[in-house]
Order: sequence, then structure tokens, then C-alpha cells
Amino acid sequence: MKITARNLTKSFGTTPVLRDVSLEIQPGELFFLLGPSGCGKTTLLRIVAGFQLPDHGDLLFDDRVVTEMPPHQRNVGMVFQNYALWPHLTVAQNVAYGLEVRKVESTERRRRVAEALEMVRMGGLGDRLPNQLSGGQQQRVALARALVIRPGVLLLDEPLSNLDARLRLELRDEIRRIQNATRITTVYVTHDQREALSLADRMAVLDRGGVAQIGTPREVYCRPLNRGVAEFLGDVNWIDAVVESAGSEALMLSTAEGPLQAAPRGDLVPGMTVSAGFRPESVQWVSTPNSGWTCSILRSLYQGDSEEYHLQTRSGAIFKALVPNPSLHPRSGDAVQVSVRSQDVFVVNR
Ligand code: ATP
Repeated sequence: MKITARNLTKSFGTTPVLRDVSLEIQPGELFFLLGPSGCGKTTLLRIVAGFQLPDHGDLLFDDRVVTEMPPHQRNVGMVFQNYALWPHLTVAQNVAYGLEVRKVESTERRRRVAEALEMVRMGGLGDRLPNQLSGGQQQRVALARALVIRPGVLLLDEPLSNLDARLRLELRDEIRRIQNATRITTVYVTHDQREALSLADRMAVLDRGGVAQIGTPREVYCRPLNRGVAEFLGDVNWIDAVVESAGSEALMLSTAEGPLQAAPRGDLVPGMTVSAGFRPESVQWVSTPNSGWTCSILRSLYQGDSEEYHLQTRSGAIFKALVPNPSLHPRSGDAVQVSVRSQDVFVVNR
């Protein structure tokens, strides 16, 4: 099922929560809505589910306008952050509920419940009550309950937020596996950028009720369109720059540190002032003298799998560098030469 949002707008009282949101989610996609708390992700998801009406705009499933269709007619499965299982029903009864409402006959119902529980690796636990399950298991049951109705659209609202770090990773893999197997169009809301980057086919980054950028995780992380998106997705070093030349292969920039090459961007012309960004993990040590920027190490922070360095350039700018398993261990006060590959430098308007 394809999902299309056209100019969706929603306010609560006088507070605008969604501003003219338009996007298309392709059939079978695992699509993320990502953004800081309060940016409107859940409101958008609730409009897709049918729990909320937009003030303006339309929602389409394939070519059918469903903006005002009640939730139970939409064939949508939903998983919430807090599992929302009925405590007095067994696992199997919880999963069977949606089939009972749809009047599926009992043999078929049992077969589909067993199939859904197998799918989430909970076969054999159908007789348990929710309070006899771990948080991760409860969320698997919630997933089975959403899948058993064979929904056209699966909506996941912060499904991993209540789980500890290890279970989050485990269930993340499960969701990817199940989505690959079923290819149900899935919309996943989270404020956790790692979850989105590691799972999404594509994602929309929302900011104050608007769509700031849509793309694959790689596009959005490596080529953010503005500072807000860049910083929401991870650490960034910024440097003021002026465009010297804008070719199709690379941008030449001048900065207080000297010339800097960046990834090309079509809409820039020489003389424009911009911000150039690069991520700490893009900073590379260079051993050839005078081939990079000379920096002194202000401090280093051991991170287990990597070392984070705070560097000061000759002109006084401070950058972060993240080096996985460094073989050299420069110390505070040491001078190092660093460089960043042009494809790792992105440019946004200042
Ligand atoms: P979070 O990650 O914190 O859940 P979110 O991006 O999902 O945030 P929403 O839940 O969509 O954001 O909320 C967006 C804004 O709308 C918030 O300021 C919230 O307080 C407000 N809001 C949401 N639902 C209602 C409501 N029913 N009545 C009034 N205000 C609401």
C-alpha cells in the first residue's frame, strides 16, 4: 500500500503542530518519521491511523482518499511504546482479538495466531499472561497482534523506547527481519536517530511541524540540507566558508584554516558565504608534513571502541575528531595534522 500525505495541517488550539506536510511512502517501505520531541511525529502517525483528523490536507492509501475514514476501516496495525496489551487476556487471546472483531472463524483464527506468534519468535508462550513476560516479549506480542490482521499499513510509535539497550538492539533486528519478510508498508516514529539510521529505507526529518528533509539514511546523514538536520543526526564540526568555485566534481571553499574541498552542490555560486560541516569520524590523521591542517590536541576522551579528540586549529577553531581504535595516542598539547576528504564535507546555507 502506498501512503500519500498532501499538505496536512493540524493545530491544537492556537498551536500549530503540523504545517503543510506532504510526503509519499512507497509500497513495502520501512519509512521513519524522525525528529525532536514535540515536532509532530506522533500527530502525523495518528492521522495516518485515523485517530486524529487534520485541519486541512488529505491522506491517501494508494489512490483512495482516507482522510476521514474511521480507524477500524483502514486495515492498519499499530504498536505503541507501552505495549498496550490487555492484562487479563493471555498472549494468544491478545493476539486473537483483532481476528475476533473481524469475525474470523475459530480454526483459522488459531492458525493465524500461531503463525503470528511464530513470526515474532513467541511460539509456545500463548498461554502466558502479559505480566509473566519481559518488556521485550510483551512488545513482540504487541507486534504479533498488529501483524495477525494482515494490515495494509503497520504503524510503530516509539516501539523500543521502553526497553533497555540490549533488548532495543535485539528487537530492532527483529523488526527489520519481519518487515523484510512481510514487506508491509511501515511507518515508524522515533526520536532516536541511531534507530532510524540503522533501520530505515527512507526517513523524513521533521522540525517544528514541517518536513525538513526526506531521503535515505545515507543521504540525510551525509548530505543534510540545513544545520538543524545535520545536528539532529549527530555531532558536526562547522566552519565558515566562502565559495571560491563550484564545479560538478567538487566545491572549492576558502576558510580561516585555508582552502577546503567539499562535496558538490548544484545551487551555489562563487562568492556565497556558507557553513561547511564535517563529522568527527571524518577527520583523518595525516602523516605527510604540511598536507593537512595543523592542530594541537586539547584533550582526548577514551570511548572504548574509539577515542574522541578535541583539536584546536592555528586560528583558534575547535573541532572534534573520533578515531576508532587509534594506533597512535597523541596527548594533550601534541601537534597533529588532520584532513577531511571532500566527499565528507557538506555545505549548508549560513
Ligand atoms: P514526542 O516525541 O515527545 O512524542 P512528537 O514529535 O511525537 O513528540 P506530538 O506528540 O505529535 O510530537 O506533539 C506535537 C505537539 O502537539 C506537542 O507540543 C504536544 O504537546 C501537542 N499536542 C499533541 N497532542 C495534543 C492534544 N491532543 N491536545 C493538545 N496538544 C497536543
